[in-house]
Amino acid sequence: MAAPTPTDSAGPRIDPATLEELRRALIARQEQVQAELDRLDSEMRALGADQNTVRGSLGNHIAEDGSNVTEQSRILAVTGDMRDILAQVSDALGRMDHGTYGLCQRCGKPINPERLEAFPYVAYDIDCQQILEREQALRAGR
Ligand SMILES: [Zn+2]
Repeated sequence: MAAPTPTDSAGPRIDPATLEELRRALIARQEQVQAELDRLDSEMRALGADQNTVRGSLGNHIAEDGSNVTEQSRILAVTGDMRDILAQVSDALGRMDHGTYGLCQRCGKPINPERLEAFPYVAYDIDCQQILEREQALRAGR
C-alpha cells in the first residue's frame, strides 16, 4: 500500500518519532472532531424533533422559534468548521502516507516544525497561509 519513499526527494526533515507523535495527534483529533460532529448532529435532530412535536400545533409559525433558528444556524456553522478541520486532518494523514507531510502545499517549502506541532493539520507555511487568507478575503468581496 505504502509507496516507496523516493530517496532524492526534498522531503521535510521531521524525525520519525516526531512524525509518529504528530500522526497520533492527528488521529486523536480526527476522532475528537468526528465525535463532535455526531454530537452536533443529534443536537440538530433534537431541535428539529422539538419543533415538530412541541410546536406542531402552532402550525408553521416560527416567530417563537427565533432562538431555535439561531441555535440551528450556530450548529450548522460549527458543523461546517468541524467538517473543514476533518478534511484538513485526513489530507494531512494522506500526506504522511505519501511522504509529503510537512511541506507547504502551495510553495513546497518545509513548514516550520513548531507550527506543525501546534497545528498538525496545517497544509501551508505561514507566508502562504497569509496570502491565501488575503485572497479569500478578496473573494468574499472585502
Ligand atoms: Zn508556502
